[in-house]
Amino acid sequence: MADVLTKEQRHRNMAAIRGKGTKPEMLVRKFLFSHGFRYRLNHPRLPGHPDIVLRKYRTAIFVNGCFWHGHDNCRYFRLPKTNIDFWQKKIERNKERDKKEQCQLATMGWHYITIWECQLKPKVRMQTLESLVYTLNHIFLEDRKIKAYKIVENYDSLMVAESEVAYGETNK
Ligand SMILES: [Zn+2]
Repeated sequence: MADVLTKEQRHRNMAAIRGKGTKPEMLVRKFLFSHGFRYRLNHPRLPGHPDIVLRKYRTAIFVNGCFWHGHDNCRYFRLPKTNIDFWQKKIERNKERDKKEQCQLATMGWHYITIWECQLKPKVRMQTLESLVYTLNHIFLEDRKIKAYKIVENYDSLMVAESEVAYGETNK
């Protein structure tokens, strides 16, 4: 029985798991760059070597191939008909590794965003990329909010009389 993946797909997936500049990843990079975002690639010191790292946003972006990273409920993720056991185990391992790396990033105070290959298909691409920008802006604002809160908190300890008001306002 023939494998579900064509030679071309397999090649693309191999490139994807090695984290080289694959086409879906390029789409994301181009879009971000044209919208004024600046990033680093494959940051060596962060868990999982994220594809795109936005330091200003403390955010790591992973552009994941649906097959190798085992995208749940995805029509592009189908196990090959042969050696099912082998593939299942392999992809389960990849998924576990992804999860572990994401946990590590989170404990380091980093945000992470996973973009699946299927979310970059022509029909849904724009929607995905626009919501990515929306998410990044949201992250940026939230981080600023936390910083503002911390500054006020320090201020409170110096200016006791004003503390109640300042605290309530910044929390809104
Ligand atoms: Zn998918």
